[in-house]
Amino acid sequence: MKKAAVIGAGFAGLALTYHLLKEGFKVTLIDKKGVGGGASGIALGLVHPYPGEQCRRSLKADEGIAAAKQLLWVAEEKLGRPVANYEGVIRIAFDEEAVQNLSKYPDVERLNDKHFLIKSGITVFTQSYLEGLWLACKDGGAQLLIQNIEEIPQDYDLVVIAAGAGCLPLCPSLRLKRVKGQVLVCKGVPPEKSIVGKGYIARGECKETFHFGATYERVWFFKDEEPDLKTALKELKPKFEKLSTQPFPEILDCKAAFRVTHPHGYFPLIKQLNEKTWAVTAFGSRGLLYHALAAQEFLTCLKTKT
Ligand SMILES: Cc1cc2nc3c(=O)[nH]c(=O)nc-3n(C[C@H](O)[C@H](O)[C@H](O)COP(=O)(O)OP(=O)(O)OC[C@H]3O[C@@H](n4cnc5c(N)ncnc54)[C@H](O)[C@@H]3O)c2cc1C
Repeated sequence: MKKAAVIGAGFAGLALTYHLLKEGFKVTLIDKKGVGGGASGIALGLVHPYPGEQCRRSLKADEGIAAAKQLLWVAEEKLGRPVANYEGVIRIAFDEEAVQNLSKYPDVERLNDKHFLIKSGITVFTQSYLEGLWLACKDGGAQLLIQNIEEIPQDYDLVVIAAGAGCLPLCPSLRLKRVKGQVLVCKGVPPEKSIVGKGYIARGECKETFHFGATYERVWFFKDEEPDLKTALKELKPKFEKLSTQPFPEILDCKAAFRVTHPHGYFPLIKQLNEKTWAVTAFGSRGLLYHALAAQEFLTCLKTKT
């Protein structure tokens, strides 16, 4: 049986582990913090095809959502409870171009001047999803090793680096960049559906809290990943009134992580680094839309090369 190591136990690493197990690999999942130790552990959970102010449709959106749903159902089956809300997401359009773009698609229904219902939109309960998908991997035979990887391990037939921001030092040739994101955990009854505008309000499993975010902070060399409530409030407070008619909520917690991007386009990188080593990374703000599809496409690339 071939031995594979997957470095990073976020959305990408778990999806890769799940698919490698299905292909008959013996998989060791390695993470310095444990499952959901990076951006996946704090993501707002939104999956929809229309990001950005212009609401242009993401590449391979249908395939991304279909692949993600398959893994959400795997996690649900393991846990015996829902790990997402599938009832759609509200999108607010702030200009005519966004209105025109959203009006073109059959999975979008116009509710009024500015508000659209993205029927294909999903809100993932990220902690439950990570828990359920890891359980499926564990039951499939994967092992979890808590270790900070500084050098690519040599004693495996295949190594896949899916370490989020940890890919920058591990794969310097990829010219990856980081964008810090912060999210606020707020006290209050969540809206019926998550709302996406210039910020996002995401409903979760809890009936008394909701998540509001996220900041986009350019990262200078010295900027760290620690939450910084003052900066988060400065960027996010003005966005809240554009999303909600409610007064600004009480903040219970502030969480932060790095998103990873690359300069070559919107779809994540699936890159062979040497004979045995691959990187699957740079999911930007679309980790949930693309993690499962990227894992499937990685397997296709692997089979083509070997
Ligand atoms: C505030 C915020 C909100 C977001 N909201 C959404 C959203 O609503 N919808 C959406 O689709 N996306 C969202 N994103 C983006 C999404 O979180 C990321 O695209 C996704 O989590 C990336 O997954 P990943 O598995 O590549 O990386 P990560 O989740 O960062 O996982 C990488 C893992 O690798 C581990 N690691 C790193 N270095 C090493 C090392 N040297 N050795 C061992 N382990 C290592 C880390 O501990 C971590 O667990 C958001 C991001 C942020 C910051």
